[in-house]
Amino acid sequence: MTDIYIRQDGHAGRITLNRPKALNALTYEMCLAIENALWAWRSDPTVKLVLIEAQGNKAFCSGGDIAEMFATGSSGDYAYGQRFWRDEYRMNALVAEYPKPVISFLQGFTMGGGVGVGCHGSHRVVGESSKIAMPECGIGLIPDVGGSYLLARAPGRIGEYLGLTTDRMGPGDAIFAGFADLYIPEDAWPSVKASICSDGNVASLHAEANQPPASRLQAAQPMIDRLFADRTLKDVVRTLREESDEFAKEAFSKLSRNAPLSMACTLEILHRLRSESLDIRNAFELEYRFTSRSMEKGDFIEGIRAAIITKDKAPNWRHSLDGVPDAEVTEMLRPVEGEQLTFARNTQGMKIGFIGLGNMGAPMAANLAKARHDVTGYDMATVTVDGVSTARTAEDAAREADVVITMLPNGDILRAVAAQIIPAMRKGAVLLDCSTVDVDSARAVAADAEAAGLLPLDAPVSGGIGGAAAGTLTFMVGGSDEAYQTALPLFETMGQKSVHCGSSGNGQAAKICNNMILGVTMIATCEAFALADKLGLDRQAMYDVVSTSSGYSWSMNAYCPAPGIGPKTPSDNGYAPGFASELMLKDLRLSQQAADASDADTPLGQAATELYRQFVEEEEGLGRDFSAMLPRFEKRGRG
Ligand code: NAD
Repeated sequence: MTDIYIRQDGHAGRITLNRPKALNALTYEMCLAIENALWAWRSDPTVKLVLIEAQGNKAFCSGGDIAEMFATGSSGDYAYGQRFWRDEYRMNALVAEYPKPVISFLQGFTMGGGVGVGCHGSHRVVGESSKIAMPECGIGLIPDVGGSYLLARAPGRIGEYLGLTTDRMGPGDAIFAGFADLYIPEDAWPSVKASICSDGNVASLHAEANQPPASRLQAAQPMIDRLFADRTLKDVVRTLREESDEFAKEAFSKLSRNAPLSMACTLEILHRLRSESLDIRNAFELEYRFTSRSMEKGDFIEGIRAAIITKDKAPNWRHSLDGVPDAEVTEMLRPVEGEQLTFARNTQGMKIGFIGLGNMGAPMAANLAKARHDVTGYDMATVTVDGVSTARTAEDAAREADVVITMLPNGDILRAVAAQIIPAMRKGAVLLDCSTVDVDSARAVAADAEAAGLLPLDAPVSGGIGGAAAGTLTFMVGGSDEAYQTALPLFETMGQKSVHCGSSGNGQAAKICNNMILGVTMIATCEAFALADKLGLDRQAMYDVVSTSSGYSWSMNAYCPAPGIGPKTPSDNGYAPGFASELMLKDLRLSQQAADASDADTPLGQAATELYRQFVEEEEGLGRDFSAMLPRFEKRGRG
């Protein structure tokens, strides 16, 4: 992409905004490109820090590119803008929470969207030309991209002043208000950048930092604190009108150009964010409440029209300066109903290797491909899956992948496949095993993967092939938080729930416990149907009672073993699996192996294991669904 230049330079991940003619205004594609680069560098040990800069001397970044938002929003389509904001805020949060130093060089204008990229890192450098502002209230928005958080943390009422008047900060002001950290004269920037890239540390920044110019805002703070002490716009406006001081008059003149609803909501947001318990994610959430409604219910479309499209600078705001009802502020800041803002990694277009395309793996891989991931699959057997390209070997599927998913029959096979693919995978990639295997194998594979610089997760599933096809699986996940966060969007695509159960192996532990309950309840349900038959109780009546009484369970309600009763299940298909009895036996054995190893007393688990063993090894259970226990019991008597 020519609008942004992203590369590794020495020890630095280096991002250069490259639209100088457009004052480096941030496009949607630039946001996604920054996010992807930050994720790739996060776990890359050769990248020690991130440097963000921009071409041209007029601006670091003058804001978000809002032309497309106006085009779509003015025709009543708000989804594009909402998606832009969600994706932009997620990227801003990544900058703010980045585990490595992020150094930004902020020449000229840094406004709005530029603040989101440039003012949340660890080392924010300003120079002589720096002019930083949050001008959103002027176009019917509120200070967003995390700017509200910076404003709320600025000294005294400086945040209210900057947010409402949209006044510009010079370099000294920006450091005083907490939007920047270091003042370095701009002619020293090229050499400072060169040394932080080659050294991989920030020492030269501090060596070159000078005393910043005096802050005008700091001098005015006592006055600002007095003028902007009130919580509502009406009261702030009244105070300003009553003042004869020149500063107050000027502040009033600046503020009276801006959108009243935006300013009233800005005040409310800043007050809420002053609570110490709220962090920057809370700020993004509050901001999104407003911005997601700003086209339909706020002044954003009118604001862009007046400022950028017709440029008449005469917006027709919805309210007068003292006429914003409190109820409208509450309404704009109500929790969002539609698509929510999330902070998990955006993995659309992620490169995924998928190994083991059986009953479960094939539909899971198909769902990932449908969600526009680039999925390459491999299975020992020849399998083709819609939308998934086929690799010749497991290593080929794994080599370039950001995430490799395995869905294999057992722990021995998992260990063998892991030994093949771990050396082929790129450092920092996630190895996500969704098979059900023994805890020891899960932990051994995780240790090998970690030693090779990978992020391992054990994430067995529940929900069966129905859940795999419908994308409604539950994942029980063991592994590091970083790995879990990275894989979270994939869990959301393949399933409806994921639970992070702790460190490596804990996902398998949860799965084994769950399936021990499942084996026991399925046997109990089948026994009870066979007993009901003998007592002359109609199966439908039995189902109607139990499924709504204290005997209910997933085995009865969702997976009823009696054909023709309850929802459609393998029993309606001649007990073709579904979840095969031998897989249930495998899981029960894993539970007993774990119970032995940990000295846990599990008498019902033991009995269920023995029953499924007989069923699979000595009776007709092999290859039949695990609910085929019902016909087994039907045929038997007590003796
Ligand atoms: P499956 O037998 O249908 O699929 C396993 C696939 O792995 C097969 O296609 C096989 O060819 C492939 N495979 C075997 N060895 C391989 C190797 N060395 N390299 C590449 N591919 C290889 O099994 P499934 O039902 O899809 O189950 C997969 C896992 O999910 C198991 O661990 C199972 O316990 C678990 N599980 C299954 C269900 C279910 O309802 N089927 C539910 C929850 C969990």
